[in-house]
Amino acid sequence: MPSRPTPPKSLASLIPLPQLLVFDFDGTLAPLTNHPRDTVLPTQTAQLLANISPFCTIALLTGRSIADLREKLAHTVFAPDFCIGNHGMEGLPSCERASAQAVKTMSQWRSALEEGTWKTPGIFFEDKTLSASIHFRECQDQESGQQEILRRIESLHPRPEVIEGKLVYNLLPPNSPNKGSALIELIALTQVRSALFMGDDVTDEHGFAVQTHAFLEQSGIDLTTVRIGTQCPTLAEFTLVEQGEVNLFLDALHERLFLSKGEFDHFRDGLRLPLNS
Ligand SMILES: [Mg+2]
Repeated sequence: MPSRPTPPKSLASLIPLPQLLVFDFDGTLAPLTNHPRDTVLPTQTAQLLANISPFCTIALLTGRSIADLREKLAHTVFAPDFCIGNHGMEGLPSCERASAQAVKTMSQWRSALEEGTWKTPGIFFEDKTLSASIHFRECQDQESGQQEILRRIESLHPRPEVIEGKLVYNLLPPNSPNKGSALIELIALTQVRSALFMGDDVTDEHGFAVQTHAFLEQSGIDLTTVRIGTQCPTLAEFTLVEQGEVNLFLDALHERLFLSKGEFDHFRDGLRLPLNS
């Protein structure tokens, strides 16, 4: 479904007022960089999220491990209510069993993916304990890098679920939770009536697909979905043209939440569960 780009301020004014905000990290709250270690949450974005925080429950739902994400947030003014990592495999009550299986699967894959086993210079294996990402953004010959990665993936046992991202392949153990199942669990856990999910990449499409999930329809919950970038087909209801517009959206949303404060007081209690803080 092609969705028309919406100016960030208009988007903030026309969506159902969200009680829960769920954001992907890289490429959504933080500009993409060539190497994931270089990604930084901009100071202004952190401040805007901190401003919104008293009005909403805020969760980050990322492909990074939680430990890695926490490092990225450590020196900022923003502390999310929930950190959910590894595409939904870490940070929720249901994750425990999936995590044990994922640790085992990763131990089977690790030696085949480690640094030093790749011929194409620039391939970077990111070991996220429960899943893996193999980046080829830094390869001079990206075509060769991509082909080598695909051949290597073919040889893995058990066969991973592969989610192609921006110059990266994300490898998940078979039958893992994903951002969609994590989003549903989070909405049920926080008992909100309205939520927003924003992401920028193929892995986020699982989250956007939740919008038509029977659980939401049956419980009358509003979910707004927003994808950053207009290049790819998406299931998201709205798109922003580029990552640089996110701060404008957050600022306008904060203003609206602030002005609507009275509407929110009746459901504030009980929303913040000290789950993984
Ligand atoms: Mg992303």
